[in-house]
Amino acid sequence: MSNVRNWQLGREMEYPHEEHHPQRQFAFVFNINRCISCHTCSMACKSTWTFSRGQETMWWNNVESKPYGGYPRNWDVKLLEQLGKVDPDNQRWSGEANGDPQKPYGTFEGNTIFEAAKKNIGSTAARRVLGYLPTDEEWRTPNLYEDTAVGEKGHPMKFTRAVEELPTHSTWFFYLARICNHCTYPACLAACPRNAIYKRPEDGIVLIDQERCRGYRKCVEGCPYKKPMYRSTTRVTEKCIACYPRIEGTDPETEGQPMETRCMASCIGQIRLQGLAKIAEDGSWAEDRYNPLYYLIKVAKVALPLYPQFGTEPNGYYIPPRWVPRPYLRQMFGPGVDEAIERYMVPDRELQAVLQLFRRSNRIIFKYKIENGPKVFETEIHGKQFTQFDDTIIAFGKDGQELFRTKMNEPVHVRPAGIHQNSI
Ligand code: SF4
Ligand code: SF4
Repeated sequence: MSNVRNWQLGREMEYPHEEHHPQRQFAFVFNINRCISCHTCSMACKSTWTFSRGQETMWWNNVESKPYGGYPRNWDVKLLEQLGKVDPDNQRWSGEANGDPQKPYGTFEGNTIFEAAKKNIGSTAARRVLGYLPTDEEWRTPNLYEDTAVGEKGHPMKFTRAVEELPTHSTWFFYLARICNHCTYPACLAACPRNAIYKRPEDGIVLIDQERCRGYRKCVEGCPYKKPMYRSTTRVTEKCIACYPRIEGTDPETEGQPMETRCMASCIGQIRLQGLAKIAEDGSWAEDRYNPLYYLIKVAKVALPLYPQFGTEPNGYYIPPRWVPRPYLRQMFGPGVDEAIERYMVPDRELQAVLQLFRRSNRIIFKYKIENGPKVFETEIHGKQFTQFDDTIIAFGKDGQELFRTKMNEPVHVRPAGIHQNSI
């Protein structure tokens, strides 16, 4: 075991390999407030990478309903329970989410899946990572009936009629879209006895070498997010490859420019923004003030990692759903939840502008610039002043070329009078 720095935990932690960091890191922000569970993302991925025999239950991208669902079923509840048993009552954070860049969410005092594995006395075998292997039944159905209303507390088809109001709803659920987080400290890589899993130095994408893999499924057991998936026809394990030809700009469709993955590009709800974060030598995010991901995660702090306490330093970040009771969200996204939701509910001028960048282009945005426009609207939201300006936000690509510009005020186009035939 080595000691490595995990900035999301605000401390060092133990990891089975030495610390190495890529120059850039594949990362993304999903705005849960906007996901409609249309599954377009899942189908875009499936029709590109997992449409063959043996891949029927393989959903590298999946969308699940929380709090009851999950793919594989209850993956997070099962792991949280395992962690709780190893060191009961100690899975907690100390300090505050107060802006200290060394510990932006405070310090996690409990055990990560790497640390818990060592203490898991009574485990059948010594393991590098605490985890479990889901059953075939648990892999069977992604989001099937998870969001079908059945009635309140055991009374079929009887529902609360009360009017729900923010800050939280008494009856609630939300959709959680997930892909591999291309973690900084991947548990899949740590668990693999064949050293078949590697992290690319140029973009931090985590891949399984299909030649080296022998299908032991240790990665499936070890990944806390359950994102490696075993293929029975080839007897090796596969996982999300972050559409790397698109990220590299080598896919013919990209015309040489880094392009976002298929699941990102197809998102109907416009919840997704993906990019490549600049990584400093010590593994922290190098300052890149006008990179939209850096801004959302490090400056505005509206986007938070999924279950940071697992310890893999996931590179997928989420803007939490604002109607959900806070204790549930704090367990899922850590102590930064309250501040993130407060900022998102009454966004300042810059945040309003950056939120316009989601899904305006398939090209990866490396930088943005805002040109000020006139004030167009003001009101009060939850007792706070909210002002909107018709600013223009300009997005730039890898070589500094302008990708697009968009305005805060959506233009209204009126179709001229006349006969317009519908297409069939
Ligand atoms: S999410 Fe799982 S499969 Fe993906 S890099 Fe992290 S540990 Fe590995
Ligand atoms: S395409 Fe977007 S909106 Fe639709 S389910 Fe996927 S993440 Fe949600």
